[in-house]
Amino acid sequence: MDVHTHLTHKAFKLDQDQVIKRAEESGLGAVVVNGLEPKSNREILSMRAKSPIIKAALGIYPIEAVNDSLPSDFPLEVESFDVQEEIRFIEEQAKSGALVGIGECGLDGYWLGEESFSKQESVFEQLLDIAMKYDLPAIIHTRKREKRSMEILRSLGVRKVNFHCYGGKSKLAIQGAEKEGWYFSIPANAKVNQLFTKLLKELPEDQILTETDAPYLSPDRNTRNEPANVVRTVNLFAHLKDWDVGEAKQKIWNNYQNLFG
Ligand SMILES: [Zn+2]
Repeated sequence: MDVHTHLTHKAFKLDQDQVIKRAEESGLGAVVVNGLEPKSNREILSMRAKSPIIKAALGIYPIEAVNDSLPSDFPLEVESFDVQEEIRFIEEQAKSGALVGIGECGLDGYWLGEESFSKQESVFEQLLDIAMKYDLPAIIHTRKREKRSMEILRSLGVRKVNFHCYGGKSKLAIQGAEKEGWYFSIPANAKVNQLFTKLLKELPEDQILTETDAPYLSPDRNTRNEPANVVRTVNLFAHLKDWDVGEAKQKIWNNYQNLFG
């Protein structure tokens, strides 16, 4: 399965249907499309009709969470919207049973500075509250704010957690997986990324999931990533554990069922 992908991205505008078909043909049982802001959140809800493997997670990306207070020279294009209204929309959808998760959500200290942190944390915490209230996993983005994200998760007592594309200290990840039962989804480019390879090897095997973050993080240089590529991480996982691929597949699928099922 791919627990973190952005099929709403314009990179998939022309061939979204074929991309979904290739995911089905590659044997994926679930593709969790993650939302970032109002537009992608709504598109994901309607995308579910395309295939039973398409699952919806709605969220607010940390940069979008502070869309009304970004500096005028901010390098990324961010549309403005009412964050509180969107949080209400996400809660309605969670309540209706349309979602398998809340995400993506989290904290970003790479693009954003300290002046944004309290606002980011407030949105993050409100989304975590929804996740807990409706017993859904939270799919977490955290860049340069890993420790703080973990502090918040611990203080709120959030148990159902998946860290997506985790880039912090491996020791913190292993601790979180062992002590809190948190999950970590490993991208399709794990083979060429030392930290992801290490996490695949050292995380408890029951806490590992697969993802792509497509169209980003392709395993092949300068190409678009897509959900079918998770197969590469499953193969690498099998190789590192000295298992056959079928065993690795089954393990990761069971992990998905345990968190998202
Ligand atoms: Zn993402």
